[in-house]
Amino acid sequence: MFTYFMPTKVFFGKGCIAQSGDVLANLGRKALLVTGRHSAKANGSQAAVVEKLDELGIAWFLFDEVENNPSIATIRKAAAFALEKDVDFVIGIGGGSPMDAAKAIALVCTNDLDDAQLFTGPYCKPLPIVAVPTTSGTGSEVTKVSVLTNPHAGTKQSINTPLIFPVYAFADPAFTESVPEQVTVDTAIDALSHAIEGYMANTSTPMSDVWAEEAMRFLGVHLTDLKGDVPYVVREDLLYGSTLAGITIAQTGTTMVHSMGYMLTYYKGLSHGRANGLLLPAYMKLMEETMPDKTEKVWALLGVAGLDDFTALMQDLMGDKVDLSDEEIKKFVTMTMPTNGVKKTPYPVTADLMAKIYKEL
Ligand code: NAP
Ligand code: FE
Repeated sequence: MFTYFMPTKVFFGKGCIAQSGDVLANLGRKALLVTGRHSAKANGSQAAVVEKLDELGIAWFLFDEVENNPSIATIRKAAAFALEKDVDFVIGIGGGSPMDAAKAIALVCTNDLDDAQLFTGPYCKPLPIVAVPTTSGTGSEVTKVSVLTNPHAGTKQSINTPLIFPVYAFADPAFTESVPEQVTVDTAIDALSHAIEGYMANTSTPMSDVWAEEAMRFLGVHLTDLKGDVPYVVREDLLYGSTLAGITIAQTGTTMVHSMGYMLTYYKGLSHGRANGLLLPAYMKLMEETMPDKTEKVWALLGVAGLDDFTALMQDLMGDKVDLSDEEIKKFVTMTMPTNGVKKTPYPVTADLMAKIYKEL
């Protein structure tokens, strides 16, 4: 038995917001726009949303203070603003950080949750959520997850509920044209990691595999095109691939790569995609043992010769490695072993094995 659920209506392509008719009018008369500090103003995404809202006579208010890896404090500040303005729905515009923030804000607006309950529920229906990606990475526009930085837990944690699937996702590759080189590389590797982890996860299904394979096809062909000038057609494939990978993890969740990576982001300041990219070769080495057929399929879809070729490619893209002390490794392993990502990994992961992977980074 397996299930498949993806309730988000996706609009994909250049100019998709302008061409979306009056769908946003169904969501209410007042919107909160949630963005980072700069990029949404510079890449045309905020202006495209505002133009559509103005055309439909929908009032809007802007919260533009979302930081990378958003904190609970930011969510609460924005939710207080949203409640004060009495908005009907929330539009997250940006990379994963503003989109995830928008999901959590929409939830906090309708639920009285303390910082622990925020991650466990139970939840009532949030305000409707709209997502506009401007990076090609997280796939948050089509997932039921919001990843936040939780200082109480000393790590990043996820809100995971089908209630926070966006109602609409507007994926316009033109908004991603201004993404700087390092963010282009790191976000593409995050998307690749979603496709690979979702494909390998012991929660994968025949239907999630369809999306994962297609995502790997679109992302794999461009792994050597991520540096330097990235033409529009490549940007289009990367955003398409990351959205497909998002649909995959909306079914399967992620595995030990993401769980282990959260430690590297929280404690060592690595970007989310880079953290995953550094861990992927070690993960694929395990997969070669337990899932040889699917591993072969991954190499074929990505157009690489095998593990050595893939490892060299990742090393070239991810650059320098990280130095971790024995104490750090011990703490990371203790915190990561109990996570869901480890449970979804199709390998008998032990604390010793995980420590070895961290040590060899
Ligand atoms: P991000 O943290 O949203 O943004 C990274 C940087 O890129 C920011 O400085 C941002 O600037 C800039 N930026 C965004 N779009 C740009 C554009 N079009 N042009 C130029 N610069 C741009 O990065 P992300 O990798 O997309 O998201 C990472 C977050 O998503 C992490 O918290 C991760 O845990 C989470 N995540 C969520 C899911 C999910 O399913 N929900 C899955 C994977 C990861 P501004 O701040 O000025 O906007
Ligand atoms: Fe991710």
